[in-house]
Amino acid sequence: MDYLPLFLQLRSQPAVVVGGGRVAVRKVELLLKCRARVTVVAPELRDGLRELVLKGALRHVADRFHPAHLDGAVVVVAATRHRDVNAAVSAAARERRIPVNVVDDAELSTFIFPAIIDRSPIVAAVSSGGQAPVLARRVREQIEALLPAKLGALARFMGERRKAVQQSLSAAARRPFWERLTSGIVGTRVLAGDEAGAERAFERELRTSHLTACAATGGSGLGEVYLIGAGPGDPDLLTLRALQLLQQADVVLYDRLVPEAVLQRSRRDAERIFVGKGTGDHALQERINEQLVHWARKGLRVARLKGGDPLVFGRGGEEIEVLAAHGIPYTIVPGITAALGAAAVAGIPLTHRGLAHSVTFVTGHVLEDSSLDWRALAAPRHTVVFYMGVAHLARIVAKLRAAGASADHPVAIIEGATLPQQRILRGVLATISAIAHNANVAPPAVLIVGEVAAFGAVDALVPASARDETSAASGALA
Ligand code: SAH
Repeated sequence: MDYLPLFLQLRSQPAVVVGGGRVAVRKVELLLKCRARVTVVAPELRDGLRELVLKGALRHVADRFHPAHLDGAVVVVAATRHRDVNAAVSAAARERRIPVNVVDDAELSTFIFPAIIDRSPIVAAVSSGGQAPVLARRVREQIEALLPAKLGALARFMGERRKAVQQSLSAAARRPFWERLTSGIVGTRVLAGDEAGAERAFERELRTSHLTACAATGGSGLGEVYLIGAGPGDPDLLTLRALQLLQQADVVLYDRLVPEAVLQRSRRDAERIFVGKGTGDHALQERINEQLVHWARKGLRVARLKGGDPLVFGRGGEEIEVLAAHGIPYTIVPGITAALGAAAVAGIPLTHRGLAHSVTFVTGHVLEDSSLDWRALAAPRHTVVFYMGVAHLARIVAKLRAAGASADHPVAIIEGATLPQQRILRGVLATISAIAHNANVAPPAVLIVGEVAAFGAVDALVPASARDETSAASGALA
């Protein structure tokens, strides 16, 4: 290790920045964030900085650099474009034993600025020791993606309750208590922006921990459920929150729409349980509900992974009711629903000025439902996405035709959107059934019906192999 990472307390401390240009602005802003008393030494200041001086946030010495400018400073930054000036600043600072950074010049510096991930009060700093700043920034981006946006709020939440916890729990009980808090309901609630819910959960946890500590039995804490939308299949389409919660869940309940590649993103030692094959099976849904309650009651964190979005044709509503009835806390994480994933891979805008002003998601399972307004679905400038419709394709076409849609009304079928087997077929109402039959289309697939379905001649994202196969089978790939 060439540099010792430290966090320097700069509040109300004098800091000097030499230089008044673009690079200086960034360093000044950083120092001001830490509430240092900043002086800028430069004959002239660029915009940004001048305003800070007018606001009284910054002192300006309108002068060429002189070593005496550094007297009393606890930290110095040289950010001029002139190497000789930067070298003079560096020499003067070293002589006074003040830590100095010369921007982009590790040799002249006694300290370097790391790449910073700021979730104050949680701050992470990354450095390549000046050897590969671009790589360090890359690492920073990766860490950024892993850390919840509200991590700082969680740290503050815990900080504000330290005293209360110290008073009610023994030293030995505190650490497991904080660990449960960090990765349990309290943490989940704060990170989801629900501080009131977090506060209630905190009070409950504290009471339970106090009681179990007195009884010396070691409680297991409260269980919870995360209803997570896994997206259409490509694991890169998981949301950051889905990933974060998958990383902390003890048990993962998943069904057939969730591919292995997504499951792989869950915690390595989490228990993975497959909970279902068919759709529309009531007994199956009941068993899933039972499992949710069973595992959460054990005090575990249960991730219920569902394809697409949990609240779009996903029976998420029923699971929410069951959890609520049992008083089990839950968090819902939206996912990219199949219609959106399919539209993206096919380059089909579901709405488009002039082509479609509204869009309906319909499940092919309710074809005979008399409340469905087929005339509205068949109307021009309206997009319909049918889920679970492959098996009913011929009937869907007949219904749309009977409701007034023309024979050349465009249709696209997207099979396995974002999955390795993805295929895109295009046609019109008159041809699509034969196209699907010839291509042997299999679930999961959605149908997109409407003028927009003819949009975008080239399916840039379809693998070349799939493209050949599809066009050979159908002769209709746009
Ligand atoms: N909750 C899910 C839908 C579950 S119903 C969501 O929001 O996407 C299952 C249906 O979703 C399938 O029959 C199919 O119509 C559609 N579907 C799911 N994943 C798909 C994919 N990768 N490509 C195309 N359609 C998909």
